[in-house]
Amino acid sequence: MKNSLNDTIKIGPIIYQEHIVEDLHDDDNKGLGLYGQIRHKEKVIELDSQLTPEVAFVTRWHETLHGISDLYNLKFKDEQVSILAVVLADVLQDNPKMRQA
Ligand SMILES: [Zn+2]
Repeated sequence: MKNSLNDTIKIGPIIYQEHIVEDLHDDDNKGLGLYGQIRHKEKVIELDSQLTPEVAFVTRWHETLHGISDLYNLKFKDEQVSILAVVLADVLQDNPKMRQA
């Protein structure tokens, strides 16, 4: 299932489309279910359709951090991305003034 064009995530100059996918799985390991994944070449961020809003929020940040790491060649490890995603989601949810200028 694909969303409208409004569901985009802009990372630097790059615009990713966000797609909600039923039963999201790893391409190389079909037995491995995923919450989310970023397709750098296609500029698509996929989120599993079964995620709660809170988990989707963190997962969106997780995949966005992978996109930031790729764009700026930061070489974030997945563990670092996982921690940063939770920390950023927490800070943004707990501090409304951190969400806008
Ligand atoms: Zn990851």
